[in-house]
Order: sequence, then structure tokens, then C-alpha cells
Amino acid sequence: MIKKVLKFGGTSVGSIKRIIHAAKIIKKEYDSDNKVIVVVSAMAGTTNNLIEHSKSISKKFNKRELDVLLTSGEQVTSALMAGALNDLGVKSKSWMNWQIPIITEGEHTNARIINMNIEKINNYISKGGVAVIPGFQGVSKNGEITSIGRGGSDATAVAIAKIFQTDTCEIYTDVDGVYSSDPNKIPLAKKIDKISYEEMLELSSLGAKVMQSSAVQSAMINDIPIQVKSTFTERKGTEIGGKENIDYNKAVTGVAYSKDDAKITLLGVEDKPGVAADIFEPLSNEQINVDMVIQNISSDGKKTDLTFTTKRQEVKNAVALIKSNKKIKYEKIHMNDKVSKISIVGAGMVATPGITYKMFRSLAEEKINILAISTSEIKISVIIDEDLTIDAVKILHKTFKLD
Ligand code: ASP
Ligand code: MG
Repeated sequence: MIKKVLKFGGTSVGSIKRIIHAAKIIKKEYDSDNKVIVVVSAMAGTTNNLIEHSKSISKKFNKRELDVLLTSGEQVTSALMAGALNDLGVKSKSWMNWQIPIITEGEHTNARIINMNIEKINNYISKGGVAVIPGFQGVSKNGEITSIGRGGSDATAVAIAKIFQTDTCEIYTDVDGVYSSDPNKIPLAKKIDKISYEEMLELSSLGAKVMQSSAVQSAMINDIPIQVKSTFTERKGTEIGGKENIDYNKAVTGVAYSKDDAKITLLGVEDKPGVAADIFEPLSNEQINVDMVIQNISSDGKKTDLTFTTKRQEVKNAVALIKSNKKIKYEKIHMNDKVSKISIVGAGMVATPGITYKMFRSLAEEKINILAISTSEIKISVIIDEDLTIDAVKILHKTFKLD
């Protein structure tokens, strides 16, 4: 008998039929004498609809009320899931965030789980019941309802695995695991059997949408292995874990892309100490994240060009901040939000020379121009024209023998 947390994402509980199907998966675990804690997302599309409702009232909808609104989706699926389990003859009960409670810290719509009371639930599961817990929900120390960020049910599952010390953390989703690239766009993408936290973290923050990246980060910090599997097929999924999951035979594990980047270039910026700090300080004060930065070498020692990227939704704000910043002098400012970021990720990269060159060469052969580059130990990212995204992913997938 082992203790498991099983998390079902939005598509896995997207209809009554699917909830019943998921309940049957849970029943199997229960019938094998496992102690089971279930975490559910809202039905697919629900959270987005609720956001739309709030926006049709006000673009500046009160954040406290937004949390009350958004977390309602998980209340619905928790009750339906517990009910479906009861109907299959499984003893089951749902708890809301405040009943457990799941204590969070931080601002509304983006809180973090810091603790949970385990007593009631441990009691219940040790007496042979299946506990159903809503993902995404929390409650602040002051008793306010909170939510923990979009896609946060993954983080709830990881927090439960940690705090309840479960033996497994299983993420049920609509794909049968983590792929070497987006299987919807790249038909030759292959399922990865094992991947390290670091690689998964890079892939998920670079656009692979299988798991929320902060949940992967928390699994990494707490060394909680995760199994990603499909609700709809019996195929073996992907195991996310420590270094033993690295396949050193492969330099590149996956190719990810995201289409939510934008690029800003300042031409003719003064080349003297402190200028970059003057440009980026006001952005950081406004919580605008800067991703890649490139500064050209100035030919005359006086002026240079500086390019950086941000998220597309923040770019207008960033340009406005720069234009109103009296501290910095430049000749021209350009903005381009029709760009995308393509990244190759692999822990095996460290041990394989020539990866950078291979990546650039194969993009050049497809006549794809690179607009910006950034690298880390296990990843190389480039910014390119958005229209060429899929072409670039395909060629890199082939170059690094992932097809
Ligand atoms: N329902 C929330 C969302 O759509 C949380 C989740 O699904 O993980 O973001
Ligand atoms: Mg999700």
C-alpha cells in the first residue's frame, strides 16, 4: 500500500463523461489498496470564461473578488469528482481550500502555498476514503480566498506530495507525456521517457505547456519525482526526476518555442557606465521582466545599440517607460512584437561540443535570420521572425536527431 497524489487537469475533467472516466482511474488505484489524494483543475475553459466575465464588468476588476470568482471552477469539479467516486462505490469526500486549510502567502491571483493542515485528510484516507482537493485554491492567513497563478493545480499537486509525503505525484493530462517538441505542430516529435527537473524546467518555461513551470521548480527544490501520464491512453508517460534521468547520449532533449516575446532596440545609446542600469531599473520597478539583452560593441567608443526582449504583453509599457525616462539618451527606438523564441534544451549539451554552431548553421541553411541569442548551460535560445517559427522548430528537431 502506498500513498499517491493523482492530479487531473482541465481537459481530463472537461465533461461529465470525462470526470466519470477519471473516477474509474482513481477507483483502480483505490482497489489496489493505495491511499489516494486527488487534485482537480477546473473544467477546461472555465477559468478563461470566468476571467472574461470579470473583464466585461471592469478591466480593473477587484483582485480579491477575482480570486473568489476564479477558484469557483475547482469547487465544481471537486464536488463532481467526489460524487462520481461515491457513485462507483468508492468512499470519497471533497474539501475546499479554507476547510483544509491550504495556507498561502503573497498577492491575490498569484499567491504561493506555504503550508497545509494534514490531519483531517490523513485521517480520512487512512480510514479508506479518497480525498478530493481543489487545485489552484488557497486561503491567506487573514482568511481571504486566494489563487496561486494560472495552471496552479500542478503546484497544488506538488505541494501536497511534499507536505503529505506521498510516494508518488502523478499528473494526468491530455497528452501521454512530455514530447521532444509540440506534437500538435511537429508530427515527428517523440515522447520522452525520462527527463531531469532542469531540462523540464527549461522546456516548460520556454513554451512546452505540459506542466506549469513553477510546479516543476518546486518539485526540483524538494526532489519530488513526477509522473506525467495520459488520462485517455494506457501508454507509459514521462518521468521527471533528478540527474539519473539525464540521457547523456543525446545532446538535445527537446525543442521548445513560444510566441509571446517582443524585441526592443535602442539605437545610438551613450556608451558609458550606468546606462544599462538606468534603462533597466525603471522596468524592474514596474515588474517588467527582461529576458535577453544584447549590446553591440561601439565602433567610436561613444555610442552603441542595445537590444532586449520582454513578454509581448509588457512591451508597450516598456517602450513608454523608456520614452519617459529623462535619464537615458538615444537616437531611435524600435519595437517588434512579431517575433518568437526557439530554444533547444538538453543536459547532455554540456558534454557535447559544437551544438551552438550546429544550431546556427541549420537555421542559416533555411535562410532564417537570428535576431537575438541567449544561452545557459543546458539551453540555447534564439529570437526569430514569428512567421518562421514552425520551420525553425522542424529543422532543429531534425538536426539534433529527434525526429
Ligand atoms: N483552473 C486554473 C487555470 O485554468 C488552474 C489549473 O487549471 O491548473 O489556470
Ligand atoms: Mg493545467
